[in-house]
Amino acid sequence: MKLVVIDPGHGGTDSGATGNGLKEKDVALTIALKTDWYLNHYYKVKTIVTRYTDKYVSLGDRSKLSNSNNADLFFSVHCNAFDGNAYGYEDYTYTSVGQTTKNIRETFHNKVTEVLNKYGIRNRGMKTKNLAVLRETRASAILVETLFIDNVGDSNLLKNSNYIEDISKCYADGIALALKLEKK
Ligand SMILES: [Zn+2]
Repeated sequence: MKLVVIDPGHGGTDSGATGNGLKEKDVALTIALKTDWYLNHYYKVKTIVTRYTDKYVSLGDRSKLSNSNNADLFFSVHCNAFDGNAYGYEDYTYTSVGQTTKNIRETFHNKVTEVLNKYGIRNRGMKTKNLAVLRETRASAILVETLFIDNVGDSNLLKNSNYIEDISKCYADGIALALKLEKK
């Protein structure tokens, strides 16, 4: 059975970005745990979550957890922040990845566009970046930037429970499609 490591960004003393009454660490945890729930409820898969509570986990420990369990996918959930004006969704892979990871990310990204379209969210696209959790993780690794927490419009969506359910379920469905998981 395929193994997915789900990684809620930040936690504990590391709040991540903040804005409009929200903390990235909380939003990331909520979405990640819901994604985990949807994956396990609908698909034959094993999952590991790097943190279930509001606690600090180092970037190194997140990658180690994935590497030591030989995960098939490392999925890291974050929210973006910039200057308050930037908005939308984007996802990341490491700067140089193999074709398998490229295919997984493209399939995943295309699935996510369904929710972006439903809510009229700007798609900022598929990007690459030299991020520690992507670089140090041997599994295919995707990091999602789930809207801009410091943008008023985006933060209103992050406070909308329907949106949170929809994006979490879509993340799960996107992962399942990309990894060709069997339905339960
Ligand atoms: Zn973050």
